[in-house]
Amino acid sequence: KVSLKKSINKLKSDSLASVDWGGNTYEWSEDVKSTLKNIFKIDSFRPKQLSAINSTLSGQHALVVMPTGAGKSLCYQLPAVVKPGITVVISPLVSLMEDQVRSLTNKNIPAMLMTSTSAKEDTNTALNALKDKNTNIKLLYVTPERLAKSKRFMANLQKCHADGRLQRIAIDEVHCCSQWGHDFRPDYKYLGILSNMFQNVPILGLTATATAHVLNDVQKILNISGCLVIKSTFNRPNLYYKIIEKPTSQEDCLTILEKLLKYRYKGESGIIYTNSIKDSEDLADGLRKRGLRVGCYHANMEANSRSKVHLKWHEKSFQAIVATVAFGMGIDKPDVRFVIHHTISKSMENYYQESGRAGRDSCRAECVTLYRMQDIFKVSSMVFSSVGRLDHLYGMVKYCLNGTFCRRQQIAEHFDEDWGDADCNKMCDVCSNPNTSCREISLELHCKTISSILENAEKQDTKLTAQKLLDAWFLKGPVILRHKGKEPNFSRSIGEDVITFLLVQGYLIEDFHFTAYSTISYIKKGPNMDSIGDVNFVLKMELRKFTEFHLDRPAPKDDEIVINTMNGQCEQGKKTNKRKSTVEKNSKKTK
Ligand code: ADP
Ligand code: MG
Ligand code: ZN
Repeated sequence: KVSLKKSINKLKSDSLASVDWGGNTYEWSEDVKSTLKNIFKIDSFRPKQLSAINSTLSGQHALVVMPTGAGKSLCYQLPAVVKPGITVVISPLVSLMEDQVRSLTNKNIPAMLMTSTSAKEDTNTALNALKDKNTNIKLLYVTPERLAKSKRFMANLQKCHADGRLQRIAIDEVHCCSQWGHDFRPDYKYLGILSNMFQNVPILGLTATATAHVLNDVQKILNISGCLVIKSTFNRPNLYYKIIEKPTSQEDCLTILEKLLKYRYKGESGIIYTNSIKDSEDLADGLRKRGLRVGCYHANMEANSRSKVHLKWHEKSFQAIVATVAFGMGIDKPDVRFVIHHTISKSMENYYQESGRAGRDSCRAECVTLYRMQDIFKVSSMVFSSVGRLDHLYGMVKYCLNGTFCRRQQIAEHFDEDWGDADCNKMCDVCSNPNTSCREISLELHCKTISSILENAEKQDTKLTAQKLLDAWFLKGPVILRHKGKEPNFSRSIGEDVITFLLVQGYLIEDFHFTAYSTISYIKKGPNMDSIGDVNFVLKMELRKFTEFHLDRPAPKDDEIVINTMNGQCEQGKKTNKRKSTVEKNSKKTK
């Protein structure tokens, strides 16, 4: 019975998916067009916006998957205006809702917001709007906890539904339902009741999380399995992706950042992301001492000074903002020419979002990540306690570690897309050095050595961090922890890559311990290490290609106007004036 239901759902979704929903011949099409122009003052839709709008106006459940900044809000705001009744929008972040209500109010679209901290009067007005047949309110924003915990709200919503005035339920950031997403929120679980409670009310879920795993889970939790999924591409052809080996000392890191800002990105605007408040302050100070104009931005700053920093960056009196991920909301600067990650992101999803703030104007921009093994543990000791977070982090690490496969393809795979081989256009460090040959190393014997070091340490009652493990392997540090063999015949930095490779492949695992001040990550043998005794055991690792990247020469300018898949429009088509890239040169530096 279950499988029958499944196949019916599959059939349903296949036939739904074969309709494109992008047409202009629906009964509402004229209204949609005029509302877009006259009320939203927008000339044309971006890719898939019209499909999303038509499909939800047709009354079915749908999930809309688009990158951040692509314009998901319009997909429920416009239908809300076109049809009578109220659209309830569930969104996790109050600040985002406030922004939206403000912008709707400016367009003379009556909208309200209800959170657990709203003033009593406002709450009453909102609650009454649900009951009042004559209300002019078109959109009502609520937080999921409000919905889950307020009986009165639910009662009024049922009244609204009974009166036939509940037009649609939009669930923003809908991936928050799923534990497998990168941003699980327990209150989103309760939203599963909506599809049953409000029969015939279309649910529209919106997210920038595209993995099939999460989307399936979301459908299950919301009880809308097999619903239509409308997805726009995640490819950003104008972004150049690059990994740089991160030096061990902060001073050396500063030198890299200084050069990038002074020469490669001279006169351009950008963002430098790091993972702690202290790092953001230290880096900003360091760069200022080196004569650069940068601002600092993190969650511990007053809202007021945050706005000031943001403004100064906007008007270009700051070249860059050194920020934690707290800097994200409301960045609508189109000409961000570089996003540098001083520390890796918590997941590929986060990375895509953070780096995606570059090049919104469709001109060439660069996304540069400074990576070294030690940073994995800085991040893992912050995220390990949540379900699935380590896997997400390791996804990010795999991306940094893989220097032989097009970065864009790696991102495409992550988002379950296929952008095709030709699509990179040499816009990543791997593709811009196609001729550098790859080298593979065999890890069978190294696994045995590493395993023996860990066993020996355990006998000594000693725990090893990745650094200590590396020391012992390279015959450094306390003699008692070293192994009996020879040290590896490659550099320590390749050694770091090997340990990392074994970690993300499950041959090693992290083991977290707590002190009063911090969490320490130690390394233990992982489940896959059991197979190293098998006679047929083979494990190979491709070495990263190290490609030269001129920190001290201007980045290539945007000679061609890239077709921006995000805007779906190409202002002038491609100019063919391709300047020869002066930036990338093949150089193999596998010491
Ligand atoms: P998302 O939720 O997908 O991250 P938003 O809905 O916040 O994106 O929209 C991002 C920005 O794009 C907003 O400023 C919005 O007004 C603008 N926008 C949306 N659709 C269009 C369009 N078709 N043309 C121009 N701008 C648009
Ligand atoms: Mg949004
Ligand atoms: Zn590539």
